[in-house]
Amino acid sequence: MALVLFQNDAAVAWGNEGHTYINRVAAEKIPADMPRFLGEAAEEITYLGPEPDRWRSPSEFALKNAQEPDHFIDLERVSWLDPLPQSRYEFLRKLYEKRAATTDHPDDYLPERVGLQPFITMEVYGRLKAAFREYRQRMAAHQPTGSTEQAIIFYAGWLGHYVGDGSQPLHTTIHYNGWVGPNPNGYTTDHHIHGQFESDYVRANITAKDFAAQIKAPERLNDPFADYIAYLKNSNSLVEPVYQLEKAGGFTGKGTPEAFEFTTHRLAAASQMLLNFWYTAWLESAVPVTEHPASAAPAKTAAAAK
Ligand SMILES: [Zn+2]
Repeated sequence: MALVLFQNDAAVAWGNEGHTYINRVAAEKIPADMPRFLGEAAEEITYLGPEPDRWRSPSEFALKNAQEPDHFIDLERVSWLDPLPQSRYEFLRKLYEKRAATTDHPDDYLPERVGLQPFITMEVYGRLKAAFREYRQRMAAHQPTGSTEQAIIFYAGWLGHYVGDGSQPLHTTIHYNGWVGPNPNGYTTDHHIHGQFESDYVRANITAKDFAAQIKAPERLNDPFADYIAYLKNSNSLVEPVYQLEKAGGFTGKGTPEAFEFTTHRLAAASQMLLNFWYTAWLESAVPVTEHPASAAPAKTAAAAK
């Protein structure tokens, strides 16, 4: 397990290039019916693609430790929890209950080993939507919006990282970096496939223009959480193809046409989902909210009361 955790630490989902491409391609497809400043911020949004991977240095221990589970979720470990709760704290509680009731490898249910991917994604999406709402209010009140625009750009770019991680099949699985458990097809168990696929292969063989044409006009998501979970499950369904491609030499050197097709489609899926998230946040930010609904006040906890 120490080795597995080390590998988790070492791998940085899609690598610098993949995350940069995902954000850039999405930013360049921002439609004209969204605020113009966002489309003009493609350079900043692109820069922010790899931003959470800059939070992994041991020199910022608290940050590194707290945010590492944000990059993945081992869906096989939560197959008993369907649907997933939308509340991060309910999810944590369920995992600890499961751990307490488990005798075989109970620590497999520790939140930091299962991963918290969909929760951070929805939380950053929420920040973006709230910032868009603030932008609309300031526009309506003829107030300056420059600072709000900066916040929106940051949230939009930051969100891109997690949506990008979510399209990488190996970020949704216990087979994170080498096949584990029964292995009738003889897939690699070496701890190299993760970085080889998402970083080395992408850096050497793919550019943003290889998949930009796949991106369509954004669609408003009906249910962002449910739609995002479906997106993660789709990625999880593609774990075995990654191992099949690796076995066929698809990610070695110049790779194979099949590996190129597969990888560009995964990158495109991320840009499309990111663009859909931005578009949905913008549209939903127009829905009026009650400022301080007394009836919806959360139950007081020790932490909340402070
Ligand atoms: Zn990541």
